[in-house]
Amino acid sequence: MPKFRAKQILDWRNKGITTPSLMRNLPLDLQEKLHAEMVCEPLTLVRKMSSNDGTRKYLFALTRRPYVGKMVEAVFIPDERRGTVCISSQMGCVLDCPFCHTGTQKFEGNINSSEIIAQVLAIKHDLLNDPLPSALSLHGEVSHIVYMGMGEPLANEHSVYQSLEILLSEEGLNLSRRRVTLSTSGLVPQIDRLGLQSPINLAISLHSANDILRDTLVPINRKYPLQDLRQCLNRYPLPQQRHITLEYVMLAGVNDRQEDLEALVKFTNPARERINLIQFNPYPGSPYQGTPSEQLHRFAKRLIKKGIRATLRRSRGQDIMAACGQLKAATDPTMILAR
Ligand code: SAH
Ligand code: SF4
Repeated sequence: MPKFRAKQILDWRNKGITTPSLMRNLPLDLQEKLHAEMVCEPLTLVRKMSSNDGTRKYLFALTRRPYVGKMVEAVFIPDERRGTVCISSQMGCVLDCPFCHTGTQKFEGNINSSEIIAQVLAIKHDLLNDPLPSALSLHGEVSHIVYMGMGEPLANEHSVYQSLEILLSEEGLNLSRRRVTLSTSGLVPQIDRLGLQSPINLAISLHSANDILRDTLVPINRKYPLQDLRQCLNRYPLPQQRHITLEYVMLAGVNDRQEDLEALVKFTNPARERINLIQFNPYPGSPYQGTPSEQLHRFAKRLIKKGIRATLRRSRGQDIMAACGQLKAATDPTMILAR
């Protein structure tokens, strides 16, 4: 084939079109050859749910042995300025943070890089076929990616690095690394490796700056306590004018007290870090309650007074259980048949 055919195929793929018969500028015989010889669908879309606020949650089934029929979820979160895809990196999570729905799910394995990328492409495809209603006045295309779905991305380093290569390379989705963020519960050696290999935006699930409390809320703290995390964050290579985000889910009476605020102020390096306060998103049987909104705002204001940038993360897609920490794929295989 002439070289330009490869470029045409990649252009289609990067738009989210992976079915050869839809690649209109390819000759029929090439479409057929691709169809017969190329695997184009590492995931099957099982179900899509749309929230009133424009957020969409997608449930995908894997097609690879031995995981055929196992599910992962991804979310599209549009706001006025950007369209963010939140992707999953594992089926479940072994790290068991007690406030996280994914953590309560049985860990079923890592997903591979094509399955990570396929989440993005399937969402692009859906947005082409079924654009957001214009009345919502939201950004209807994929502009940003966050590794904040199901699983701990740095516990699946190989696939995450491979997928990053595709997201960031020119022949791939050609995204600037400023538009890609990875959230981790704080695996120190892995964060160091990420900094060396692919220094994208970093978000840390901090949730407490007190070792005793963090040992419970983010159990990986027992292995990598705050002092180790502190040194690791000091080393992480930051592009100019960028910040590391410290994520802090506000749990009523647990980590929202004056002493928690003081510990947080002491831990944070305001020159390199900002704090993103997250409203707790409940799920059936969750053992915590979220801090009331007024108190959450007060907490943010106090941080700002101390010279720390603090933002509140708007909860999105709660009505379809698509908000942070609510992802837990239904594992009932009959759902695939119901498609
Ligand atoms: N495993 C990674 C990425 C996935 S979790 C990590 O822990 O960082 C993405 C974010 O959602 C994390 O900051 C996590 O702490 C937060 N989160 C988990 N459960 C939540 C809940 N019920 N309400 C609000 N945020 C939650
Ligand atoms: Fe795993 Fe992150 Fe959930 Fe903790 S918060 S259980 S690390 S997905």
